[in-house]
Amino acid sequence: MSHLQSAAVAEINNPDVDEKERLVEDLAEGRVRFHQLPAELSGREQAELRRKAVERKTGARLDHMGRYSLDADKAGTQNCENMIGVAQIPMGVIGPLRIRGLHVLDEELLVPLATSEGALIASTNRGCRALREAGGAVVRVENVGITRAPVFRTSGIVQTTEFLEWIQEHEGEIRNRLQEDSRFLRLIDIRTQAMGTTVYLRFRFDSGDAMGMNMATIACDRVIQDFIEPQTGVECVSLSGNYCVDKKPSYVNFQEGRGKKVFAEVSLDKHVLEKVLKTNARALVEVQYRKNLLGSIAAGSMGFNAHYANILAAFFLATGQDPAQVGEAAVGVTCIEQRGPEGVVASVYLPDVPLAAVGGGTGLATQREALDMLGVQADSERPGYAVMRLAEILGASVLAGELSLMAALTSRDLARAHERLGRSGART
Ligand code: NAP
Repeated sequence: MSHLQSAAVAEINNPDVDEKERLVEDLAEGRVRFHQLPAELSGREQAELRRKAVERKTGARLDHMGRYSLDADKAGTQNCENMIGVAQIPMGVIGPLRIRGLHVLDEELLVPLATSEGALIASTNRGCRALREAGGAVVRVENVGITRAPVFRTSGIVQTTEFLEWIQEHEGEIRNRLQEDSRFLRLIDIRTQAMGTTVYLRFRFDSGDAMGMNMATIACDRVIQDFIEPQTGVECVSLSGNYCVDKKPSYVNFQEGRGKKVFAEVSLDKHVLEKVLKTNARALVEVQYRKNLLGSIAAGSMGFNAHYANILAAFFLATGQDPAQVGEAAVGVTCIEQRGPEGVVASVYLPDVPLAAVGGGTGLATQREALDMLGVQADSERPGYAVMRLAEILGASVLAGELSLMAALTSRDLARAHERLGRSGART
């Protein structure tokens, strides 16, 4: 039977096949756009048609992208438009990680990290052992709140002053309107910043267990359109005025905090330093001083740390956080100082960590499993508790990763570990 004959037989047996083939062709040729597939197709079917069209157009084989178990109907509408499949990232585990916080009450946890960087998990795992042998990481978290700062244009400084006064006088009404559509969003305060004809209103919210960026943005948009603009005649130029500050390192977030402020600390004695971390107090304090402090000053860096971004990125991917917020969360300060003749006290401080136990990517299947591993489940009876627990676990994980890398630098073990664990087959 010829190719054409067999295609005709297939069409008689299953008219859908021909219809789908036509859709793939239309997508590949650009006659139908990726977001215009018939709504009656399931998320999985839509992803498959797009994938086939991309294969046809690019010549690339996309077999692996098409193998997944997550709910494509949900992911394709809530998390990822024009979905064609999934990107797989290896998931590893570190621990047990002993944490002494206020929401993790002296527990040992296994923490999932998703990464493609060889040596990261091995190194952070060594840090976990150091923390365990030192009695655990002490962690504290402050719930600062999520911020959104729209920017307004006035006619001049007279109107700017009147506008700021009006905002102050009407804060109660603004608060009620901001909170009316959410069970969890609560306005904490409004910080104002004015420069000539430009005014920023930095709204700060408690968003319960959610990271809160959608909740805050939607609420701000509504109060501006329905109340602030019509009442004052002052136009909002952009719902985000970059004074929020979302997904970018910034001094305002460093000073005031954003999302969660996370502190984690441990005292390490001579025995743990030598046996687990293969270092000593003097060397660790010197690398801290010359690298994290002076090196960061010389470079004009905002973060005074060795590699928070590494642990943050792997933790964010594993647990369904917004990965772009690593851009702000990685700003922070590591402190290592001598304690006693041969010990150190080491701490990490992350003032700007947006984090979620519900919403966004936390509902995806593997990310939900990762949160279950950590005992993080939002409970509407005590909103905010689960995400504080998650923040404490993150703080201890960052401390483990930071300590291990700093120690590796003192013993010149960094390159050796990466050579052993992190080189790709591409080299051969
Ligand atoms: P969301 O999924 O849009 O909203 C959270 C939802 O969870 C709300 O509907 C909330 O209820 C509900 N909820 C249930 N239990 C809750 C609890 N215990 N605490 C808090 N909320 C609870 O998520 P979001 O946190 O607002 O926004 C996160 C998403 O925003 C991420 O996907 C991120 O990538 C994205 N993002 C958006 C922007 C933006 O400008 N829009 C910027 C950066 C990132 P209610 O309906 O009662 O509030």
